[in-house]
Amino acid sequence: MTDPLIIPRAEHGVSRKAISPNAVKVLYRLKDAGFAAYLVGGGVRDLLLGGHPKDFDVATDAHPDEVYKLFRNCRLIGRRFRLAHVHFGREIIEVATFRGHHDQAEGENESRVENGMLVRDNVYGTLVEDAWRRDFTINALYYNIADFSVVDYTGGLQDLQTRTLRMIGDPEVRFQEDPVRMLRAIRFAAKLDFRLANELTELLPQQAHLLDVISSARLFDEVLKLFLSGHAEKTFDLLLRYGLFQHLFAQTADAFSGEDTYAERFVRQAMRNTDARIQVGKPINPAFLYAALLWPSVHWHTTQLQNTGMPPMPAMTQACREVLDQQISQTAIPKRFRLPMKEIWMMQLRLPHRECRRSLRLLETPRFRAGYDFLLLRHQAGEDETLAELCDWWTEIQTKDEAGRLAMCRPISPQASGKKRRRRKAKVKKA
Ligand code: ATP
Ligand code: MG
Repeated sequence: MTDPLIIPRAEHGVSRKAISPNAVKVLYRLKDAGFAAYLVGGGVRDLLLGGHPKDFDVATDAHPDEVYKLFRNCRLIGRRFRLAHVHFGREIIEVATFRGHHDQAEGENESRVENGMLVRDNVYGTLVEDAWRRDFTINALYYNIADFSVVDYTGGLQDLQTRTLRMIGDPEVRFQEDPVRMLRAIRFAAKLDFRLANELTELLPQQAHLLDVISSARLFDEVLKLFLSGHAEKTFDLLLRYGLFQHLFAQTADAFSGEDTYAERFVRQAMRNTDARIQVGKPINPAFLYAALLWPSVHWHTTQLQNTGMPPMPAMTQACREVLDQQISQTAIPKRFRLPMKEIWMMQLRLPHRECRRSLRLLETPRFRAGYDFLLLRHQAGEDETLAELCDWWTEIQTKDEAGRLAMCRPISPQASGKKRRRRKAKVKKA
């Protein structure tokens, strides 16, 4: 292994002022107790790029129990990776002990590789070993609290300069060890606007199928990270381009393969809107995001069932159930999101009715805003020309007071009034 490149403080832009004070506290406490302590990962990468890291990770030669003893506000977590979390109110500083090579492992702390996949990774090691087991070169840069230098073993600094995302080691082996690294590659390329190194662009489509063995719960979390990064549209493009999307959302990918381009336009528009909301600091509801990602399938299935003569409500109810059942085999969807997703979808059938009682009641339901936003999204994606007028109507009615709302509504649905008229006619006949 070659000597590291060590960049002294005077020659790089990482300043203690830009690091979270809590992370600085953790680094100093470790150092003062005689341990090595480095900032690593996204924190160093983003500071070198002039950005704002979303969290700060620390690497040290102290073992988890030693870290635990140093901090009152510390919790040990993780089975796959044993980590210390140091809590400061809502901020968590993650402290990881240097990890070593899994192929040299023996005894209790061994790592385990099954079919090329790393299922346990708990061997402690040295700084240099820790650097080489990380995923991408730009994620393996260390900021040393002892002398404020930046330490680079894997060529990360050069890749930062040329804006290249490069895997450490043999990408084929590294993807086999942990296929989620493929999704991380896409996430970082989109978020940082980096080029994927050539060996990655060739490998991704070939290895995409490895995602099928990853637990659906882990994939659910990764999907949220992918699409909540503020660069969802770009991420979506890259996932499609490198054949990964279908291993996350097979049904949606199927809907894209037809002649009609609506399905893809719809998801793309949802991604664009997500990015726009994040840009202005608005919250994103995972249920809305997932409802959008699966809508092409729900819409298609509902139409198919209606074509067999089923009425709209039961058709959509069945479509929702089938699509969700299929999806959770790929990405788990926690129950607390499934119900609101169904509500958003089912509301699409209720929104076209505009008579008094129904509309006013709908306006009061907690999920109305999400259902309405979803309607706008369908219109933006060009689902159907008649949606324009319906969207305008729902937009306007929200601006009115009660009298104004009543004035806008139809007194009774045409269906119901038809029934009444027939009933009245029948009465007249009897008489
Ligand atoms: P961000 O937090 O901005 O999303 P990050 O690079 O900090 O990006 P984390 O998921 O916080 O990403 O992980 C911290 C570091 O741990 C990474 O930079 C990388 O060095 C290492 N790491 C994380 N996940 C993996 C993985 N699956 N394989 C190898 N190394 C990993
Ligand atoms: Mg991080």
